[in-house]
Amino acid sequence: MNKVEAQRQREIQQAEELLFAGPQALGFAKGLFQGHFVADWVMPYPRIPAAQQAELDKSLAELRQFLDEHLDPVEIDRQADIPREVIDGLGRVGVLGATTPVEYGGRGFTQMANCKLLEEIGTRCASTSVFVNAHHSIGIRALLLFGTHGQKQKWLPKLVNGEQLGAFALTEREAGSDAANVQMEARPTDDGANFILNGEKRYITNAAIAQVLTVMARTPMPGSDKTAITAFLVTPDMPGFTILEARMPKMGIRGTATGRFALHDVKVPKENILGPMGKGLKVALTVLDFGRTTFGACCTGAAKTCLRLAIEHANTRRQFNKTLGEFDLVKKKVARMAADAYAMEAMTTITASLIDRGLEDYMIETAMLKVFTTERLWEVINDAFQIYGGSAYFVDLPLERMLRDARINQIGEGSNEVLTSFIALVGMRGPGMEFKEIYDTMMKPSRHRIGKAWIAGRNRLGASIRIPDVPVQSEQLRPHARQLGRLIWRFNFAVNRALITYREPILDMQLVQERIAGAAMDLFASTCVLSRQDAEIQFARRNGDSGPTDHSAADLFLRQSFRRIRRFLGGLKDNDDKSLLAAANSILGKPRS
Ligand SMILES: Cc1cc2nc3c(=O)[nH]c(=O)nc-3n(C[C@H](O)[C@H](O)[C@H](O)COP(=O)(O)OP(=O)(O)OC[C@H]3O[C@@H](n4cnc5c(N)ncnc54)[C@H](O)[C@@H]3O)c2cc1C
Repeated sequence: MNKVEAQRQREIQQAEELLFAGPQALGFAKGLFQGHFVADWVMPYPRIPAAQQAELDKSLAELRQFLDEHLDPVEIDRQADIPREVIDGLGRVGVLGATTPVEYGGRGFTQMANCKLLEEIGTRCASTSVFVNAHHSIGIRALLLFGTHGQKQKWLPKLVNGEQLGAFALTEREAGSDAANVQMEARPTDDGANFILNGEKRYITNAAIAQVLTVMARTPMPGSDKTAITAFLVTPDMPGFTILEARMPKMGIRGTATGRFALHDVKVPKENILGPMGKGLKVALTVLDFGRTTFGACCTGAAKTCLRLAIEHANTRRQFNKTLGEFDLVKKKVARMAADAYAMEAMTTITASLIDRGLEDYMIETAMLKVFTTERLWEVINDAFQIYGGSAYFVDLPLERMLRDARINQIGEGSNEVLTSFIALVGMRGPGMEFKEIYDTMMKPSRHRIGKAWIAGRNRLGASIRIPDVPVQSEQLRPHARQLGRLIWRFNFAVNRALITYREPILDMQLVQERIAGAAMDLFASTCVLSRQDAEIQFARRNGDSGPTDHSAADLFLRQSFRRIRRFLGGLKDNDDKSLLAAANSILGKPRS
């Protein structure tokens, strides 16, 4: 086995241990890859329970009032700082600990309710929403999810009211997208009571303003020569903790303090370990699932702001003796923005509800939400920018700031390229394993194998002959639902075909993965839109509202999304991949593949 192959096998084994340990219920996304429509997770459209809705409405009203009176996004951007009074105020209105259980001083909100708060902040100021995300969605998340009761009692109360701030420190020079390559070291002391941490972290939001940092470091695994990542709570008052750069000057989300720090022989008590020893990567990935969900909410908020601004301008600015909104090429942009904003909200709500309802594994859905909403927001801001023309370029309007702020979204918390591959590969693993079972049995039949291969074959065959039912309640949505069912069937067929055609090399074929992930994302987005639209129609009907309700944006989204899915699937057969790779290899000085 050559070195590259050995590295590949190690990565596969690591991913298997990390992502697929233990039995898992079939979630929505994994179902899609198997050709199923697992309706229970997505229909009916989730609603916040009435008791919590009242509390959420109160919190939202408080938050809005506070933001109206105290949040100045222009000043935050100009000064590259979020004033302490704003942070204190966010703590007072409960945003910094919204999902923390009441017993530790939080609001005990669900992820769905939390997303509504983040969406509200996202409509106004990306620096502030990223700050809240860094503190609450990821900074204190490992403590919330994996902390013992004692750890939570000790640390959480001051963190949820904003007296102390949290940060999440994973990234290092050699561990960016390759998060498993953390080099920061944590060596146990001889008595095992402490760990000595050494290394550096970079690009860490809140690093220099946090009092509690969740830090990922590599520990030796007892009884073996292997090392694994473990999560530690580190405080800046520990001797040897050094801030190397408190606020790295940057292009967007300038109000956030993105920093670098070093740990030199920092002694951390073993009581500060979060989760099991050596399971830090799993801890980190789970934490990021939450971060990606609130990312979706923040992007939704920002998209709604762009839409509002675009409508205002399109209806007032006149050129050629007409308002801009009378030109079809402007209409095209506004309509697409409205359609995307509707879908982003629906997708965020459904993804958050998967967490709230206790689905064990929602990593594909959170990755899809993150990629989809960050890409759509980038387009939405660009469209709004274009509608404003030259005026968007000047700093008296928020669009140039929004454009700068939004650029990090496609990079942070897993770059969209890495997540695109992840969506395709994790999704295809289910059917891929079934094919492997069948293939292995054909090569080496045995009684035990034949039984398993029979089940695998039945599943694959069953999915390929049955068009899944998409159960909407509203008669007018049935044609869309039937189309969606047919596209899921086609998607399953395409996945099977890709797996049979390419077999293991598909692990490296990112252009194929991109189309499969792209189709899966649009299938998920369409499902969320259909579910939301169905619920709105039914709600209107129950309330005696029989008149026509405007669903044109949702309808447009479905049509455009279905078209994209067909294009992704068509591209699997009809593409320029060979030429593209040949040109890239030539330009990069690589051997031709
Ligand atoms: C403002 C800001 C705030 C941040 N906050 C935090 C924080 O609070 N905590 C934290 O731990 N980290 C934080 N980060 C780090 C962030 O998560 C990383 O920047 C991100 O994971 C990408 O790592 P990298 O920058 O090293 O890029 P690299 O890993 O060098 O990747 C560069 C590019 O290469 C491409 N690429 C990489 N790998 C692949 C692949 N396998 N396939 C295809 N393409 C690939 C992608 O296009 C990617 O964008 C922050 C970063 C910024 C800029």
